[in-house]
Amino acid sequence: MGEISDRVSEVLKRIESAKKDPSKAVTLVAVTKTHPPEMINEAIDAGVTDIGENKVQEILEKYEKVKPVRWHMIGHLQTNKVKYIIDKVCLIHSVDSIKLMDEIERQAEKHGIDMKILIQVNITGEESKFGIKPEELEELLVHAGDLKHVKIEGLMTILPKIDSDFSRRLHFNDIFNKFVDISQNKYDNVTMKYLSMGMSGDYEIAVECGSNMVRVGSAIFGMRNYT
Ligand SMILES: *Cc1c(COP(=O)(O)O)cnc(C)c1O
Repeated sequence: MGEISDRVSEVLKRIESAKKDPSKAVTLVAVTKTHPPEMINEAIDAGVTDIGENKVQEILEKYEKVKPVRWHMIGHLQTNKVKYIIDKVCLIHSVDSIKLMDEIERQAEKHGIDMKILIQVNITGEESKFGIKPEELEELLVHAGDLKHVKIEGLMTILPKIDSDFSRRLHFNDIFNKFVDISQNKYDNVTMKYLSMGMSGDYEIAVECGSNMVRVGSAIFGMRNYT
């Protein structure tokens, strides 16, 4: 057994023990950015069913070389690139504007499919380029009611790097509460199925706080080399 399969088992085991409700599933999205198809295929052989990439270009480069798996778009998505991945990914985690929702609608209609999306929320209100502020959520949720091929199925968040476990927990709880609030309100075309939060450094805390989709990269594949 190689290192990657050992790490996949370890992460899956930790997710299991962090779960509040053993009967509820938590999806592991293995984040494969910068890593070659051979490594990704090793992870798939070890039981990974879902992989996440943050760049359109990388999805296109690797798509044919990776074994059958569910692809997730987890990084910032420019509207002019939606057309390249619309028929390749099962979920877009990083939707943060009406303009992007509209383009996904256009491309999904063109391809005769429905596209599931998550709204990326910047819960800390921290200066960050991506993700909407919590007070902007309502507008996007309501807008989904006008769309036929876009389904909002949950929320995604990325916490800032420098943070204590205590404040991580506060932020995760905060977004979990939003997730529950929204699921109790009725918006057309909106279901709160997936709460995508937690990365290598904090996925266990995230699962303890109610995440049911974690995006784990370096804990499985090791350090990324961007050069
Ligand atoms: C890279 C990335 C991750 C995974 O980060 P790790 O710390 O390596 O687990 C998760 N989510 C997004 C959006 C990413 O870009």
